[in-house]
Amino acid sequence: MSRFINKKFQELEAYTPGEQPTDMKYIKLNTNESPFPPSQSVLKAISAEEVSKLNLYPDPTGNSLKDALAGLYGVERKNVFISNGSDDILNFFFMAFCNDDEHPVKFPSISYGFYKVYAELYGVKYKTVDLANDFSINIEDYFGNDANVVIANPNAPTGIALSRADVEEIDKANPDRVVLIDEAYVDFGAESSVALTKKYDNLLVVCTYSKSRSMAGARLGFAIGNEGLIADLEKIKYSTNPYNINRLTMLAGIEAIKDNEYYVNNCKTVAENREYTQKKLVELGFEVTPSKANFIFAKSERIDGEELYLKLKARGILVRHFTANAICQYNRITVGTREQMDKLLDVTADILNEKENSK
Ligand SMILES: *Cc1c(COP(=O)(O)O)cnc(C)c1O
Repeated sequence: MSRFINKKFQELEAYTPGEQPTDMKYIKLNTNESPFPPSQSVLKAISAEEVSKLNLYPDPTGNSLKDALAGLYGVERKNVFISNGSDDILNFFFMAFCNDDEHPVKFPSISYGFYKVYAELYGVKYKTVDLANDFSINIEDYFGNDANVVIANPNAPTGIALSRADVEEIDKANPDRVVLIDEAYVDFGAESSVALTKKYDNLLVVCTYSKSRSMAGARLGFAIGNEGLIADLEKIKYSTNPYNINRLTMLAGIEAIKDNEYYVNNCKTVAENREYTQKKLVELGFEVTPSKANFIFAKSERIDGEELYLKLKARGILVRHFTANAICQYNRITVGTREQMDKLLDVTADILNEKENSK
């Protein structure tokens, strides 16, 4: 830290992304990326000709991408906001709608770690709400119309989803607050709340290309909501970084929509692999949460959470381990291909056997 940083940021604890080590080749099951490449139309669209246009700024309105998304989701262009990853949209949400006074925010105590970072970055008054013992969200905890609400659905790192009816209850109970539903993982088996945005002016649904659309490296996220909320986000965007999506990503985003079926099929495969792996893990003595996402959240009495994480890493498999007390016995395992899952299961069984035989 230099002596020049603003005082208010001196104590700020930044978000820690999942590790991306380069010391060897790992089976990466730690950051919930897709194991599948982008679709053919995306690969074709990023041509030398398009790369040669990088001397030109991208279209700041992003209207062609917005129209493609609007078509897919059955909304209008004015209901779509696009940005450089959905983290960027979360950032804008906290900037636009939350403060330390009349606009506090609440979110689950176990959830995506970035919510707290943004709240602290902007000095927002926030409250974390504990989950039930089974890690489910009690929707009544979010009634009250006393704070904006941020919920990942499915939640991370548990994978547990709320129904659309649950989201509607929460939204209806907060008519004077903004309710943000982060649907980063919705395509793997949960119910999207996008349709509710037509009925409620206070609901913002945030989505990403990073997980179900195999484009984590392109950085593309979008939000769907009432035109008023979208206009507010546009104002923030034009006040920070009008060219927030680069030319190649914009193109890739449009092309991916054309190959929607490819992504839908990939999500189906991931969901099948999730169910398969969960069943096998349970046979090995693990407890798993009922995940609807592209990851599994698992713990076992047979081995400490951190120990398993470290031993898997030593054998070339990366999973995500969190140190917070309530979840430190768990690991979050991204669902990959069937081959990757079989390897994970084999290595895990080996680790458990070795541990128990050495006693
Ligand atoms: C991965 C993730 C995001 C961020 O996605 P990007 O679009 O890559 O910025 C947002 N929310 C949750 C819950 C996530 O897991």
